[in-house]
Amino acid sequence: MCGIVGYIGNRQAFPILVKGLQRLEYRGYDSAGVAMISDKGNLNVYKKKGKVSDLLDFSKDKDKSGTIGIGHTRWATHGEPNDVNSHPHYSQTKDLVMIHNGIIENYASLKEGLEKRGHTFLSQTDTEVLIHLIEDIRKHEDIKLGYALMAALKQVIGAYAIVVLDKNDPDTLFAAKKGSPMVIGVGNNEFFIASDASPIVEYTKNVVYIEDEHVAIIRRGEELKIRTIRDKEITPYVQELEMELEAIEKGGYDHFMLKEIYEQPRSIFDSMRGRLNSETGHLKMGGIEEHETKFINAKRILVIACGTSWHAGMVAEYLFEEYARIPVEVEYASEFRYRNPIIYSDDIVIAISQSGETADTLAAIELAKAKGATIFGVCNVVGSSIARATHAGSYTHAGPEIGVASTKAFTAQVTVLTLMALHVAKAKGTIAESRYRQLLYEMETIPAKVEEVLKLNDSIKKIAAKYKDSSNALYLGRGYSFPVALEGALKLKEISYIHAEGYPAAEMKHGPIALIDEAMPVFVIATKGANYEKVVSNIQEVKARKGQIIAVVTAGDKDVKGMADHVIEIPETDESLVPLVSVIPWQLLSYHIAVMRGCNVDQPRNLAKSVTVE
Ligand code: GLU
Repeated sequence: MCGIVGYIGNRQAFPILVKGLQRLEYRGYDSAGVAMISDKGNLNVYKKKGKVSDLLDFSKDKDKSGTIGIGHTRWATHGEPNDVNSHPHYSQTKDLVMIHNGIIENYASLKEGLEKRGHTFLSQTDTEVLIHLIEDIRKHEDIKLGYALMAALKQVIGAYAIVVLDKNDPDTLFAAKKGSPMVIGVGNNEFFIASDASPIVEYTKNVVYIEDEHVAIIRRGEELKIRTIRDKEITPYVQELEMELEAIEKGGYDHFMLKEIYEQPRSIFDSMRGRLNSETGHLKMGGIEEHETKFINAKRILVIACGTSWHAGMVAEYLFEEYARIPVEVEYASEFRYRNPIIYSDDIVIAISQSGETADTLAAIELAKAKGATIFGVCNVVGSSIARATHAGSYTHAGPEIGVASTKAFTAQVTVLTLMALHVAKAKGTIAESRYRQLLYEMETIPAKVEEVLKLNDSIKKIAAKYKDSSNALYLGRGYSFPVALEGALKLKEISYIHAEGYPAAEMKHGPIALIDEAMPVFVIATKGANYEKVVSNIQEVKARKGQIIAVVTAGDKDVKGMADHVIEIPETDESLVPLVSVIPWQLLSYHIAVMRGCNVDQPRNLAKSVTVE
């Protein structure tokens, strides 16, 4: 979710680190920092909230010498973006500094143990806990830093790509990773570490991709050494980079949007990480626990959002009503704020926004707050204006979304909202224990199911080729799939500029059916569930008018196959979780259609990523 860089060699580290961070700024951008051991042997740490350029201004007149150093651009997950929470982080004695990309899930329990042993912490980050732990182990077990690092990593639950620098050893860097990316460039008597190869490529094409739970020991003037965290020696596999710089930044994908579509198994998992434990049936949602009585007693939930977030909010409506039995109204923030809405002090407002900066949503929050409602935020960007304006909230951990058309943010929002609804339902006693458990188990299977759908990319691309020249498209779905129909239509409009409408399948008869002829593609979600037969009837109504049917169905479905022009089979899941899986084909389809039409997928005309104006 962020960018990390490191350098050791004969050149001055600072310019290499800064250039590397600028290359990685697309990965995360709320603060930046560096640490170098200076030519005089001092450990200099400079870090600043903001862009890499702010860090440059800040360090202008400071000693930036040194041939060993590490650097970081942060994309906050724990603790708001500010100078103190920026990386690198110090150990207790300040002898060690570390940069980290990822989330240490069990940081709270580790921190508690360290505090009991006298450690004090400066920041709110999970990262600082890990570097304290490493030092604590080194001191108490009297072992070398590399071994202490391995021992600490064995205790860590979560994801990390870390680099550690020791003030008293200006010739060594330790790097390790699990779940977050890391690559090491091998030059002539010099090494470069980075989150991806973009900062490295101009210096060397020889790289080693570090594997999960491997530790790289990078010593000046020596060969690169790699060991597992269980201390098994690994022979580094050096490969030659073939990609161009731009392709590297996009992880080898042609566009950020496609990369982000493919990141969804991971981002959905990250949004559940540390919250859901299907073994124990435990669902940890800090923000809700703090306001549990309010949720339990709420007569109504108002969901306030715009665009794709509004669609995620509609899925939440179905979830909260079904499981927590609380009536939900989903509101466009822009309409809500200007119509003198009725807000009660026992209302719960859930405000959803990827960026956390959406102007209309922010204004609607202020309005509801003034009327005494409890405001709960679901945002992707930590420390954003909405996150700060709300009483409590749950972050989605989707990582930075660069493509203007939202994809992974939507599924992360739906993931978090599902966990919230289940948590409240459990606390209220409106869900049977067995059903609750079944849904938690099923949630855990979603990332693998999304992965399965992504494998259908080639066949979805063929469907895209067939409909790329359409002027109109209709998206249909019922129940939980209705919001996905809306989202499918929005994706197509946003990036391919084809006019598209999303409708509840049964509403088709009340208007849109008049539009259907042989030139009209109708994209339908017809997965198994309570409304299945009814949707099948709707498909027949379209076919009777010569419309083209492209249907997303449950794997093994035979009925729709006989009627539809194309079927996309997705793995079976619980009806209430289908949106997380069924939206993927629509995302891929819009993407391919837009590319085939020559549209600028990542920056569609007239749109902005974060709508900070009303
Ligand atoms: N969890 C760490 C933090 O919040 C690292 C986030 C990142 O990957 O940038 O500081």
